[in-house]
Amino acid sequence: MAFKLTYATMFNPPEELHTGFDKAVAKLKQNLGKEYGMIIDGRDVFADEKFEDRSPVNTDWVLAIMQKGNASHAKMAIEAARRAFPAWSRTPWKKRVQLVRKASALIEKRIFELGAAMALEVGKNRMESLGDVQETADLIYWSAQMMEENDGFVKPMGKDPLVGYDATNTSVLKPYGVWLVVSPFNFPFALSGGPVGAALVAGNTVVLKPATDTAWIVRLYAECLRDAGFPPGVFNFVTGPGSTLGQALVDSPEVDGVTFTGSFDVGMKMFQDFGKRNYVRPIILELGGKNPAIVSKNADLDRATIGIVRSAFGLQGQKCSAASRVLVEESVYDEMVSRLKEAAEKLVIGDPTEKATYNGPVINKSSYNDFKNFCEEINQGGGKFLVGGNVKSGGMFDKGYFCESTFVIDLPFSHRLWKHEMFLPITTIGKVKDLDEAMKIANSVNYGLTAGFYGSSKEAKWFFDNIEAGVTYANRPQGATTGAWPGFQPFGGWKGSGASGKNGGGYYYVQLYMHEQIQTLIKPAPVKKAKKAVKKVAKKKVTKRK
Ligand code: NDP
Repeated sequence: MAFKLTYATMFNPPEELHTGFDKAVAKLKQNLGKEYGMIIDGRDVFADEKFEDRSPVNTDWVLAIMQKGNASHAKMAIEAARRAFPAWSRTPWKKRVQLVRKASALIEKRIFELGAAMALEVGKNRMESLGDVQETADLIYWSAQMMEENDGFVKPMGKDPLVGYDATNTSVLKPYGVWLVVSPFNFPFALSGGPVGAALVAGNTVVLKPATDTAWIVRLYAECLRDAGFPPGVFNFVTGPGSTLGQALVDSPEVDGVTFTGSFDVGMKMFQDFGKRNYVRPIILELGGKNPAIVSKNADLDRATIGIVRSAFGLQGQKCSAASRVLVEESVYDEMVSRLKEAAEKLVIGDPTEKATYNGPVINKSSYNDFKNFCEEINQGGGKFLVGGNVKSGGMFDKGYFCESTFVIDLPFSHRLWKHEMFLPITTIGKVKDLDEAMKIANSVNYGLTAGFYGSSKEAKWFFDNIEAGVTYANRPQGATTGAWPGFQPFGGWKGSGASGKNGGGYYYVQLYMHEQIQTLIKPAPVKKAKKAVKKVAKKKVTKRK
């Protein structure tokens, strides 16, 4: 079987993925620091103010010069999207499917160049970077496939039992209008591309605003759409601060729907701000997580060790799905803790473009400082560092934002950091007397995104029945709580982790970008007959007169 790159298969990739990636990094490094515009109405647009996009690997590296867009650019982009909507929404859905597939194919074609840029800008290791790009293509393909499998969501309903009339009822899903997508820094490609792809294939026009830390890689995504040949204004890309440009987009009454992926606090504020209009508009929120991994006394500890370490520290713990809490039954606690320590100590921290590296830097100075502050707070709160607890220093580490992969033990369950999403390579491990206690603690947070379990199959069934989370895994070495893939593990959260209740990359996602219209048509047959009869009578009269 041909190799298929996913987050679950990326640990042992064929050699050509490495050689392709190495070549792309070398080429890209010779061409850093170019200026990139926003894309509005099919044209590059430049703002008066710019910002330097620097790498968290080495802050001396200026990757790109990006535009600091403002409220006037928000308005310009929304107006362009509004103008393009009538024609795009009436474009036959099969044509839209064709075009988004073309964009996906371009993304796949450019995977190495895009993966290299991602590693430099986000600090993701090479396979995680390539995975983010491939996932984007697959998310878009999936939405296209859903349109096809559902015949463009034009579906006949039951016939009315109206005696004497021939009536048909048809359910049609139609696009809303101008759709805003605001994406986070950690999966800048997939969490821009997945929502944008779904919105476009459904017939909406789009304005996309990426996180400021990852404006460059999302511009490269925007170029894939531009090069696929979407008509001007159908897809618009703006860059600039969330607090000004982003807020202006959210405050616009001309936006018909939003997909926001990011932190709980920003998402909740957006939800409230977006509610200020004369009617309710759809808002899809994908927010934070505080994901538990539960280990039973019957667990396969080899699988649990590898799955937990990968999920705790992949992308330096900056995944919404990261395993940030580990709850272990007391009879296997000591053994589990010693294995986790041993495995975490083997993780290689360094330049994420290097083959051997598992962990790169965290995204920016603010996250780096948060790491130091949380470690201090853990210290004060009675927690002990099983491994890690410090930032890295010396040599290349002094140029970027490198933090040690950190497991914490003995932190009392009452401590606030058992519930707060730190979004860093810090995971707390706790001892529980039994699985009931583990479940109670697991569900005691505001979030409900992903969760993992290691134990017997019977216990796993109990876990699925009781855990409050949108993505759940049992006995998975590829990742305790991470590694979802479109078409396999649709991704979305419950409670404070997500608002729509439907997961991206699943059967019910693209429908979120459309509203339903029921079309009831009573066939005009009886009227036609009546007209014919009138005509016949008229004809007869004329003939008679003759
Ligand atoms: P933030 O909430 O800080 O930012 C997300 C986006 O919102 C950025 O583009 C940001 O722009 C923008 N933004 C900020 N303020 C506003 C505003 N007032 N109006 C409009 N837009 C605004 O999240 P991060 O980028 O730090 O991402 C990490 C968070 O995302 C974590 O909490 C993580 O759990 C969550 N996440 C959730 C996922 C899920 O599927 N549930 C998946 C991935 C991440 P700017 O960068 O310019 O400030």
